Amino acid sequence: MRVPMIAGNWKMNTTVSEAVELVSEMRQGLDQIDNVDKVICPPFISLAAVKELIKGSSIKLGGQNIYFEEKGAYTGEISPLMLADLCEFVIIGHSERRQYFDETGEITNKKVRAALKVKLKPILCVGEKLEENEAGRTEEIVTGQLKASLAGLDYLNGLIIAYEPIWAIGTGKAATGEQANETIGLIRRNIAKLYGKRIAQDVRILYGGSVTAANATELINQPEIDGALVGGASLKAAEFLSIVKQTSEIRGR
Ligand code: PEP
Repeated sequence: MRVPMIAGNWKMNTTVSEAVELVSEMRQGLDQIDNVDKVICPPFISLAAVKELIKGSSIKLGGQNIYFEEKGAYTGEISPLMLADLCEFVIIGHSERRQYFDETGEITNKKVRAALKVKLKPILCVGEKLEENEAGRTEEIVTGQLKASLAGLDYLNGLIIAYEPIWAIGTGKAATGEQANETIGLIRRNIAKLYGKRIAQDVRILYGGSVTAANATELINQPEIDGALVGGASLKAAEFLSIVKQTSEIRGR
């Protein structure tokens, strides 16, 4: 049985004091919900303060990115070792990083390897653009991203995959449950080809793209979908709590 996961990607939002306030609002409610891995990914500078605040709770922490080198003269970067000191998870290959920071499959692959080396669990994002979707190229794009990011890796070691169609991120236009389930099923079949059936059955694959309290049940009800990577709605305590609660109710049945 795969434990579902709801991860909140706060992106470049919240000052340290706003992050503390937001976590304070959701901490108690989140802590009371079982059967779901609850992960929040605030900006780097808030991680230490948030970690302190969630001490002793069941809430887990993730970073939004890492550099692939362990240490050295890379001004402004955060290494896997530094993040592993604070977090259990790290988002890698988010489409915003691919788009605005020119992250290629090769770079994503280096980051995935660097994270796993220090036992950080990557949340690896893959997803197609609108024009690629409309041209019927979803399978080709997603499979290509997956193979490039996982190249040379023998095991997944707790890695999580997030299928995030770019046309659904921040647009308010989520994929339907059926659409997301179909592509996630395809990703799982690809993982089976690369790593065998057992690993494919165990790997958690999330959906991301305009998930809200209003569409969470439709998405989480799908058999292939193991949870969600939530952007905008993770910045509203009540909305995020509702998504986690719905997930727990569906999966706890
Ligand atoms: C994301 O940032 O990964 C995301 C899915 O954003 P949103 O939920 O706002 O579409």
